Amino acid sequence: MDTIVFLAHTEADGSLAKASLEALTAAKTLAGGLGATLSIGLFGADVAAAANAVAGCDASAIHGVSGEAFGQPRYASDVAAMEALVKAANATIVVAADDSRMSRALPGVAARLGGRIDAHVTGLAARDGQAVATRGYYRQRMQAELTRTARPWCLTVSAGVFAACDGPSGQAAVTPVDVPVTEALTRTTVKTVIAPAADEQTIRPDARLLFVAGAGWTKKQADGVPHVADAADLILGFVGKAAASLGSSKSLVDMGGEGEAVLPFLSHLHQVGQTGATPRHPKGLATCCHGEEPHVVGWRFIGERRAVNLDPACGWAQGKADVLYVADAFAVMKKINELLG
Ligand SMILES: Cc1cc2nc3c(=O)[nH]c(=O)nc-3n(C[C@H](O)[C@H](O)[C@H](O)COP(=O)(O)OP(=O)(O)OC[C@H]3O[C@@H](n4cnc5c(N)ncnc54)[C@H](O)[C@@H]3O)c2cc1C
Repeated sequence: MDTIVFLAHTEADGSLAKASLEALTAAKTLAGGLGATLSIGLFGADVAAAANAVAGCDASAIHGVSGEAFGQPRYASDVAAMEALVKAANATIVVAADDSRMSRALPGVAARLGGRIDAHVTGLAARDGQAVATRGYYRQRMQAELTRTARPWCLTVSAGVFAACDGPSGQAAVTPVDVPVTEALTRTTVKTVIAPAADEQTIRPDARLLFVAGAGWTKKQADGVPHVADAADLILGFVGKAAASLGSSKSLVDMGGEGEAVLPFLSHLHQVGQTGATPRHPKGLATCCHGEEPHVVGWRFIGERRAVNLDPACGWAQGKADVLYVADAFAVMKKINELLG
């Protein structure tokens, strides 16, 4: 019989991130299906608040590694904390979010404990008494169902697949797990975190709408000249007012490297498609983007798809969008921004 542990680090404010709470739902689902014991392992500067937040999640135990040294996202201390938590829980299956901190350190835990790890899991269920993990390969073109006999089996769960666990909070009893802080654990220190201000951040996985800008925004328009500055205003204006997430085609983000006039707020991180991201927003709106197959494969998890393009024969018209508006995106977005106020 498997024993499952859900592992999470606390955020800077002591809370648990939404992605972690989603992974907790995955762990609970699996434990319920297998009839297995579920425990929770938390690490961070102080795990008390996070433990209280998940007190009502029906876990058999909550173990915690606390201390300033474990507040920093650092491979050595993260691996040491998680290794101790897996041992304390006597766990055979380990479930965590696939955020950058866990994705970096959990493979080290699997290696130290002689186990195996599978990352970016999008489904977790029990079948015939066995744990079955689902994940995509080749940019989600193939889906595989994995079972393993090796233990501990570590699994990192992709964000946006499971609902965040919102079990009632309470006063949790945390069993402290002691991890000696040696010099080897703390050789690396985080000096500062450099991140864009929240209102400058245009990649928003939790937004209801993905707004994609294509290369057409920088091309010559009906008057024979490009209008890149207007394009920037319209795109940022809409993304700000609608609190949408911003995506781009490859052609548009590549232009920067080719020395052409570009939209300076776009980077390769915005690229959607075969060699870019595969976002999961409920709705998507593509503008000045042709809708070619290598771009549209990145839309496979977008619920409702709409596009604005001057060309009635563009890729979106070939069954790739639910609605295609054959119109000038400059005029459409100007009107929409006016309506949004
Ligand atoms: C191996 C490989 C991998 C690739 N991976 C990716 C990927 O991950 N992501 C990706 O995006 N691409 C990828 N591509 C490139 C892809 O094939 C296309 O070249 C790219 O998506 C085209 O970008 P675009 O639609 O923005 O530009 P264009 O093809 O130049 O289309 C511009 C569109 O804007 C429209 N337009 C112009 N002005 C207006 C206006 N005023 N109003 C409305 N519409 C207007 C035009 O009608 C046109 O349809 C890949 C290609 C290869 C070979």
